[in-house]
Amino acid sequence: MTTFNDFGLHADINRALAAKDYTQPTPIQTQAIPPLMKGRDLCGIAQTGTGKTAGFSLPSIHHLLTYPHRANPRSCRMLVLAPTRELAAQIAQSCRDYGRFTKLSVSTVFGGVPINKQIRDLSGGVDILVATPGRLLDLIDQRALRMDDVEIFVLDEADQMMDMGFIHSLRRIAKLLPSRRQNLFFSATMPKEIAGLADQFLNDPVTVSVAPQATTAEKIRQYSTFVEQKEKQALLTAVIGREDIDRALIFTRTKHGADRVVRHLAGAKIKAMAIHGNKSQSQRTQALQAFRSGEIKLLVATDIAARGIDVSGVSHVINFEIPNVPEQYVHRIGRTARAGAEGKAISFIAPDERTYMRDIERVTRTKSEPMPLPENFSELVRNLPKPVQPPRDTGSKGRNPQRQREDAHRQRDGGQRAAGHRDGGQPRGDRGPRREVPAADDQPQRKRRFRPRNKSVGAHKGAVKRVG
Ligand code: AMP
Repeated sequence: MTTFNDFGLHADINRALAAKDYTQPTPIQTQAIPPLMKGRDLCGIAQTGTGKTAGFSLPSIHHLLTYPHRANPRSCRMLVLAPTRELAAQIAQSCRDYGRFTKLSVSTVFGGVPINKQIRDLSGGVDILVATPGRLLDLIDQRALRMDDVEIFVLDEADQMMDMGFIHSLRRIAKLLPSRRQNLFFSATMPKEIAGLADQFLNDPVTVSVAPQATTAEKIRQYSTFVEQKEKQALLTAVIGREDIDRALIFTRTKHGADRVVRHLAGAKIKAMAIHGNKSQSQRTQALQAFRSGEIKLLVATDIAARGIDVSGVSHVINFEIPNVPEQYVHRIGRTARAGAEGKAISFIAPDERTYMRDIERVTRTKSEPMPLPENFSELVRNLPKPVQPPRDTGSKGRNPQRQREDAHRQRDGGQRAAGHRDGGQPRGDRGPRREVPAADDQPQRKRRFRPRNKSVGAHKGAVKRVG
């Protein structure tokens, strides 16, 4: 059996691994570290939770230590691109942990926070930079950063990057990178278009693939219930009351949908927080910390915001709305049943979501067990407490009347309208027709046509606070 000592990693890295109590490399680490130590390019098919971050950062840190030199001003030696702020922050933290006995510097840059501090952080040069693509390009355009010295380039969650419309940003960044470099490319899924993207970045790569730890049928029990869209909230309240929940992630397709679920739960005196692209960075961090620490048991999230988040002890994933992209379902349920624990995925299927579920079952080759509606369900629907409303002066003040009309429309629709551009996404002509545009967190500022609104956010949080 392989141990970390077999890899020949720098002593300072082995010390950090011992400090983290890692005894055994995970399968992706066993497969990826040896070729990476030889300087090979790598294409990894793996999702968060498999240990891929250590898989790519340990040999990279080893390389930076083996060939020591100071990074040039406004440059980095290793660049990691991640699709969301949360994932970027998480990767940077892992690099700091694994490099804690070294002098390597690690910086993170992402959108949604002031750029000036990031410009200052980069001015002296950094060893490892973890970035989201939009902000990275902004910094390059402002001449705060150059790509000429990148020795190792990592593209993480490539499928998510494509879903978020980052393809053009990635192509631009690729052109700026020096031709002599080591490339690492990770994606949870590898459909044709992602394989095409990988080809553009990689040079004679070694391909490694690990099954997501969490999609094995015996570890995640999958259930589904047919329910009308407008009755889902009553079902959610009943499920929360009935299930033995340690931590549950509740997924909606849109940001508005996530906020609406939180307000309804607040009406039923159930504490929850939402995490999505319209929340400020500090609200997102706060919600995640509260969820991690166990202060709140329920986190309502859009797909994008939840991707890559590593929270242990998620006992339940509730698909309040069914994703119309099967891979998204795999990502969602992969949030539970981590590290050998058991998990439960429960899907609420409205009549117009049945085809989505059929696609999911075809792609995942699994079938969920039917979970009947509670016996007294019609009574629960009738007696469902009213949602807590956001304070009046936020959300609509000063907003474009057209937007307000669209919001009202959406509310009437019960959140069934596709997210589309208005919900913070980007138009994307490069995908099939049925795919919905998830909410982008970080597009280059110049190109962003549809700015997410932050106005109504505080209102919802306030609403939750009033509970308990
Ligand atoms: P990742 O897929 O990189 O996000 O890692 C998922 C989780 O597994 C993180 O909390 C890591 O700290 C942890 N982890 C990674 N590698 C190991 C290992 N070899 N032994 C124990 N835990 C690990």
